[in-house]
Amino acid sequence: MPYNGTIYRPPIEANTFLLPITEGCTHNSCTFCNMYQYIPFRVLPLSEVEEYLLEVKQNFGRYCDRIQRIFMVGADPFALSAKMLLERIDLIKKYLPNVNVITMYARTDNIAHKSDENLQALREAGVNDLYIGVECGLNDVLASLNKGYSADETKQQCLRLNAAGIQHCDLLMLGTAGKSRGLECAKASAALENEIKPHKILINTMSAFVGTKLDDDIKTGAFIPATEKENLEEERELLCGLELPDCFFWAAHPLDSIKIEGVLWEHKQQMLDILAWSIGHVNENAITRTSRVGTL
Ligand code: SF4
Repeated sequence: MPYNGTIYRPPIEANTFLLPITEGCTHNSCTFCNMYQYIPFRVLPLSEVEEYLLEVKQNFGRYCDRIQRIFMVGADPFALSAKMLLERIDLIKKYLPNVNVITMYARTDNIAHKSDENLQALREAGVNDLYIGVECGLNDVLASLNKGYSADETKQQCLRLNAAGIQHCDLLMLGTAGKSRGLECAKASAALENEIKPHKILINTMSAFVGTKLDDDIKTGAFIPATEKENLEEERELLCGLELPDCFFWAAHPLDSIKIEGVLWEHKQQMLDILAWSIGHVNENAITRTSRVGTL
């Protein structure tokens, strides 16, 4: 299947079957992101999706019956209408009859554009585990990141997902508020997460990538990034404030200087201990948050 752009998926979906659904991002203007910079948003037509599934079926035969989980590829395939998503899910079930969890990235505004009935129908069709770019709990920071939605809007839409029975995995980024505001940001993020109750939280640490507005703003002094110690203190404050015992906390992204992961009721203290030690031993000179590569 010809596909325009790099295929991104959450690190924890490394063993999941990937099915391209869209190219590019409907928003494509967060200040820190260059993942889809030159890739126009495109919905792959049903015929292309079916052609790919047919090819998979022909090449992998009975293996297809073992596939139970699918990740729909694209920056925000949840932007598709419920009708379009359900048409694609019908195709998935035609070729991969045992798939029972369909997961993908979703923006808050993608959810807002769907009715409660739409969400219910998608849940019944198997949509679950949406990866939401929450980033942080401070509205002014989200506005400066040009995220396109506020923390209040994310709260409202994630509560609608919860009511429909659709689990979500929230993506949070350390360092978004810049120098000296990490602890404030962590408190707001923890309060938001405690309310919207994700079943997983994925962390990464903000870095300046070539060609992004963030990179320009750092160079001109318009944005002063947090130190690595501040990033780790933000992470510790966030983790400390989370009251979600069953939530899986994953902070082992290549951009995270300290890799920790675990279920909160069992591993929270252990992860806090690792962070406390790291905060006391961080070597700022050994870490650069300016990208050495072109993209995430
Ligand atoms: S961070 Fe996500 S929503 Fe923002 S531009 Fe990048 S892919 Fe699009």
